[in-house]
Amino acid sequence: MGVPLLPPNMLNDRLLRSWIRCRRRAWLDRHGNREKRLWTSHRTLQLNEQQRNFVALLPDKPGKGIEACKRGDYGVVGVRLKGIGPFGESLQAHPALLQRVNGKSLWGEYAYRPVVARQGRRVTKEHILSLAFSGKLLESFQSAAVPDGLVVADEGNGLQLERIKIGERVEKKLLDTLEKLKKDLKRSLPPPLASDRRKCTLCTWRGVCNDQATKEGHLSEVSGIGARRREMLKELGINSLNDLANTDPLPLSQQLGRFGEQHGEVANQLIAQARVQRDGVIERLSMEPALPELVNAPGILLYDIESDPDARDDFLHGFLHLRRTSNGHWDLKNSTYHPLLIMREHGENQSWKRLQRKLKKYPEWPILHYGETESLALTRMAKRQGAAAEELTTIHKRMIDVHARLKTNWRLPLNSYGLKSVANWIGFEWHQVGVDGARALLWWRQWRGFGANGRGKPQALKWIFQYNKDDSLATWTVANWLMEKDQLMNSSK
Ligand code: SF4
Repeated sequence: MGVPLLPPNMLNDRLLRSWIRCRRRAWLDRHGNREKRLWTSHRTLQLNEQQRNFVALLPDKPGKGIEACKRGDYGVVGVRLKGIGPFGESLQAHPALLQRVNGKSLWGEYAYRPVVARQGRRVTKEHILSLAFSGKLLESFQSAAVPDGLVVADEGNGLQLERIKIGERVEKKLLDTLEKLKKDLKRSLPPPLASDRRKCTLCTWRGVCNDQATKEGHLSEVSGIGARRREMLKELGINSLNDLANTDPLPLSQQLGRFGEQHGEVANQLIAQARVQRDGVIERLSMEPALPELVNAPGILLYDIESDPDARDDFLHGFLHLRRTSNGHWDLKNSTYHPLLIMREHGENQSWKRLQRKLKKYPEWPILHYGETESLALTRMAKRQGAAAEELTTIHKRMIDVHARLKTNWRLPLNSYGLKSVANWIGFEWHQVGVDGARALLWWRQWRGFGANGRGKPQALKWIFQYNKDDSLATWTVANWLMEKDQLMNSSK
């Protein structure tokens, strides 16, 4: 599998974190070919969030390395902790931050404890075991016990601190995990793909694993099958996309029904989806037109939001104006893009008024979006701003979810009905390669400026607008494909 990334017989905190997320990931970190890794914005976002939290926690800039520990700096970064594990292997940790606490260490009347920053809503096993791992190595490094570690997070309402006790139970869990990690790393072949493949979107090894999933016809490749359904199907002896495609719907519906009525009800759909993917042939599900609202519309607004989910902030509402010419054609060439930046500091009321003005200016134009995010965000904001019932009904009637219409009308040979997957399949190409919502969020934070001094990156806003506009154009590509199919159906009647 190429050049190993890490020396053999060494366990470190990075491998530990990888293993907790996915056993296969740790194996690939050790044995995988580094050239096949793909960049992900997730890690950069995490590091920036971490830096923001640490700046809020510390009274001044942290010191670096062992010299800072000797001086007794309040915060210390850049320390590499080493030790020997219970199975004779070398251990290494590079804690993100050490915080000075009361105690007695080889340097004086103080000691240190490890700190991690939390992204997401809860403290996870990854946070706890990372703290425990660094804590154990820190004990011999400073000749003082480390009874706890600290998790810090800021969800927009001030810095939250959570003390995590590193007691016997956590230590035992750490030892068990290290033992399993060591065993997995010794395997000649990688562990199986993660059962919950949603996490793969954030992983650097997703290219390698997606290829593997396609090659082996992994059940997760069938759109609509998540970790739980995959386990159920495996229990019933259905192990691959081909197995599922070759299954008789009625018995499967009864068998899946034993796990819950809702699972029995989708058996037919899952088999049909697997067959479409196996055969590569699209299937029409309804003889009704997919987008009847567009037949006489004078124009449409293509609407796409960019968000910071952790901060619950929909920072960009982008609109692409697309008119219909007098001969009935959609004038894509002269379409215009209008981004509305929603700055929290301006207050929601002002943002809502701007959005209202935009919607009222084109009252006859349907608003097309892909997925439910846009309609949920807009109606929630309208309700918070006290919009009248009549206005809410009008908005609701104008919003058209292209994703929902696609799924009601067509079955496609794709493992995902996400915008990227569908629009790419039709032939649309984004101007910026490999960009996703996470990258747009990273650009947004870069534009706003990280940390207290708020140094922004001006060009980042241009990149976000381009990405947002492309998402609207991709939505149009799907809508246009649906209308073309409708026309074909009508002309063959
Ligand atoms: S892409 Fe998914 S299966 Fe592969 S290593 Fe990453 S998380 Fe695991």
